Amino acid sequence: MVSPETILNISIPARLLRFLNAYPVYYLVCHEDPDADSVTSCLALASFLRREGKEPYLFSPSPFSRPEIKDYEGSFSTERWSRKNRERIGCIILDCSTLDRIGPFSDALDGFETAVIDHHAGGRPFGSVRFIVPEAPSVTFLIQHIIETLSPGVTRQEAEYIFLGLCTDTGFFRHLESGSAGVFESTARLIAAGASPKTVYQAMYGNRTPSARMLLGRTLSRIEHHFKGKVLYTYETLLDKEEMGADSRDSDTLYSLLQGIKGVDVVIFLREEEPGLISAGLRSSATDVSTVASACGGGGHPRAAGFTRQGTLEDVKTFLLEQFCPLFSASAS
Ligand code: 5GP
Ligand code: MN
Repeated sequence: MVSPETILNISIPARLLRFLNAYPVYYLVCHEDPDADSVTSCLALASFLRREGKEPYLFSPSPFSRPEIKDYEGSFSTERWSRKNRERIGCIILDCSTLDRIGPFSDALDGFETAVIDHHAGGRPFGSVRFIVPEAPSVTFLIQHIIETLSPGVTRQEAEYIFLGLCTDTGFFRHLESGSAGVFESTARLIAAGASPKTVYQAMYGNRTPSARMLLGRTLSRIEHHFKGKVLYTYETLLDKEEMGADSRDSDTLYSLLQGIKGVDVVIFLREEEPGLISAGLRSSATDVSTVASACGGGGHPRAAGFTRQGTLEDVKTFLLEQFCPLFSASAS
């Protein structure tokens, strides 16, 4: 068994350990428009619970849009569960700081004991058993910690799941700062158990269509510089999706290219999801973008946050630039 001291001194609440033992059946839920961290946290924890003789079921509030997790979509049900046998079932919500992140499933939790495992600071707390560690680079990191605390270690399959979630939330480690030795130590155990950096890198950044690269070209050519280049803005329209295909979206590569531009702090990427509905992705190297995202009804982390809002691309851009104005007030737009 790995000593908890090697894993950032995080202690797992006794209440969570009791909860994970208490029920024969568990419902695990990822967040809307799930990302790899949310999905692979569910998959790894479900695998572990199955090894413990439990019966886990996986749920997603919405279909999967991100290519690196598409293969796992079939393991998740989007149907809401019935309220039968509530006393035999524990619900576990992963990677969600607010209840609205699980969309229609939020109403289905009534009467179920619910645990939340997450790494967002802030949000609106929910669930009666909570394991929230904002310092954790991913929720999968916490799942690894749980599995290593309760068993001799992760299986190869669990290591592969966990490694994918860790890599997507850290931008393949590029967002980690000094003081992250504990993350690399636990990552070494994932690699020892069989996870492959090459395979995960390919899943995240490889196998792209020519259209994906052309779409990247379009979004790059639309860059607007605001506040003397400290804030960059670009966007993707519904027409782009129609012409290039939804699977051409490759936002992490876009963010990485934009954040690599000299002098940039904040990157704003807006996407027209439906007519009059815009999703916003925010990234930064110094400014806390989660407060701006929260003020817009979303949330996230200080350096990566987002929200969805009604309006046109122009409306949401103008609104966002106004939000950033006080933060960059010394410079002109
Ligand atoms: P992305 O830009 O990759 O969609 O999201 C980056 C991070 O922002 C996510 O990991 C999540 O923490 C947060 N986020 C994105 N969209 C939303 C949203 O609509 N609501 C909340 N609460 N958080 C979001
Ligand atoms: Mn996450």
